[in-house]
Amino acid sequence: MKNYSLPPFKIKMVEPIKLISKAEREKKLEQAGFNPFRLKSEDVFIDLLTDSGTGAMSHFQWGALMMGDEAYAGSRSFYRLEAAVKEITGYKYVIPAHQGRGAEQVALPNLIKRPGMYVISNIHFDTTRAHVELAGGRAIDCVCKECFDLELDYPFKGNFDLLKLKEIIADKKKENIAAIIMTITNNSAGGQPVSLENMREVNKIARENGIPVVIDGARYAENAYFIKLREKGYENKSVKDIAREQFDLADLFLMSSKKDGLVNIGGLIAIKDNEEMFRACQVRVIPMEGFPTYGGLSGRDMDALAVGLKEALEEDYLQYRLDEIRYLGDKLRAGGVPIQYPTGGHAVFVDCGAICPQIPFNQFPAQVICNELYLEGGIRAVEIGSLLLGRDPDTHENLRADKEFLRLTIPRRTYTLEHLNYVAECLIEVSKRGPKLKGLEFVYESPILRHFTAEFKPIK
Ligand SMILES: *Cc1c(COP(=O)(O)O)cnc(C)c1O
Repeated sequence: MKNYSLPPFKIKMVEPIKLISKAEREKKLEQAGFNPFRLKSEDVFIDLLTDSGTGAMSHFQWGALMMGDEAYAGSRSFYRLEAAVKEITGYKYVIPAHQGRGAEQVALPNLIKRPGMYVISNIHFDTTRAHVELAGGRAIDCVCKECFDLELDYPFKGNFDLLKLKEIIADKKKENIAAIIMTITNNSAGGQPVSLENMREVNKIARENGIPVVIDGARYAENAYFIKLREKGYENKSVKDIAREQFDLADLFLMSSKKDGLVNIGGLIAIKDNEEMFRACQVRVIPMEGFPTYGGLSGRDMDALAVGLKEALEEDYLQYRLDEIRYLGDKLRAGGVPIQYPTGGHAVFVDCGAICPQIPFNQFPAQVICNELYLEGGIRAVEIGSLLLGRDPDTHENLRADKEFLRLTIPRRTYTLEHLNYVAECLIEVSKRGPKLKGLEFVYESPILRHFTAEFKPIK
């Protein structure tokens, strides 16, 4: 254990979990149409579906809940949250939202002033892309090429490709670019970090072209800790100072607080100093999320978030957080399971195309491994591959993902390393039978977002 840090907390409340028998798991999976999204969580032993809103709160947060001031307007809870966000970001205006996509639906249409305007991001998160498109905009991704080299030991695979960014701006014309969104960490690229050097360059390019910069910062604290670990000159800076440097390089901060806010529900909009933008967000937040001092959250939610935001910047917490992902990644690699390396901030991505190369992409190799992992150990993971990608809207053909990933997403402060050892053991077992596994075919497929509700049968 010398190479990994220990949990900086002890457990004082537990939620029992249970591993149902293999025969029951087989029955439940069949009833779920071979789609773990359709399982009941009570039938899951270790749930690695997502790190969103699934973490554990501290006793300080549970204590803060009792302080919640449930006033419709101007509650004490709001002012405590506002003070915490201002202290962390240095921004002037704060509006809560019910979660990340709530913040997006309020803020993004204020940037996309005309239909057909472009938004450029390292990689847009799915809901961010959806809200860009709903607002009439077009989303362009612009991540560095190192991102796609799974085994390449590169410290900041979430970075923008700066040359490509300049080309896109020149090609589409600066007056047609609504915003540049820096997604930190880069969720869709495996939670890979973005360096401050890269963010500084992006900011410079944006300034030169008069384009606003947005931080999509669900995992900004994890990103700041990666910078401390990996970027030259930041070894001795505090994570709080590094986080502030990140915020200095943007105009607007949108956050799903279900991640680095360490709460089960919540979101944030923070605006550096643009009063017009603040007014525009105030106008939209009322019909969509709620009055601007609660934005869809209760007073107690805001108090828990005010405390969680600060805890997520504590360095012993962050060190353990990133180490636990690295630990699981190292165990899997040692057992011969191909993963994205180095591991990112919130999940381990497993290359299932390499585990069962005999299964064609349109029979969903990562979904097959996902099901096998449930059968093996009652573990729920999630497919991030061709099933998630869907079909071409014109030809209706299945699109082929670059990689058939299985994501093992680790909730914050929730599972122990014993659980992760068990996950690694189960997946190593499953991967050994990879070359013998067969694919899946649809029994039901919904026209959009099919991965959530699809039903399958195994191909004989
Ligand atoms: C989760 C997430 C969102 C959306 O937030 P929700 O709270 O799920 O609505 C947006 N951007 C990024 C980078 C995320 O990880």
